[in-house]
Amino acid sequence: MNCEICGAFEENLLRTEVEGAVMNLCKNCSKYGRVIGTAVQTSKPVQRTVESERQLKYDYINEIKHALQESGLSIEDAAEKINCSPKDLKKVVNGEILPDEKITIRLERLLKISLYEMNFVSDSTFKKDTEQLSFGDVVDIKRSKK
Ligand SMILES: [Zn+2]
Repeated sequence: MNCEICGAFEENLLRTEVEGAVMNLCKNCSKYGRVIGTAVQTSKPVQRTVESERQLKYDYINEIKHALQESGLSIEDAAEKINCSPKDLKKVVNGEILPDEKITIRLERLLKISLYEMNFVSDSTFKKDTEQLSFGDVVDIKRSKK
């Protein structure tokens, strides 16, 4: 970030009040006013990668169906409680549409289930390994049959 008075680049600028105006200044220029804290960096937004890697579980439909059965709620009841139209919820349960985040979170709360899972990198490497294994198994089976 650059000092708003002299333009000097400094990693951490000081939030300084100068004659009533709050500016982000370097150590030297902060002498002109009253330091009130460290500058808040606005140019680089903090990336929340964790949230973007959250995805619906593969069998979220079954989770919803099962939880609905357990709770004894009909689709109409559940839809009313989560403030969504029964028509939409039916489509979600039938796998015709993906539930939007609002509905998913409300369903999670209502039915005390979790419909999201984290998409970890290690998870996909694991899947690749098992795929290779099963491919090898298939080859072995074919060979032993001959
Ligand atoms: Zn300065």
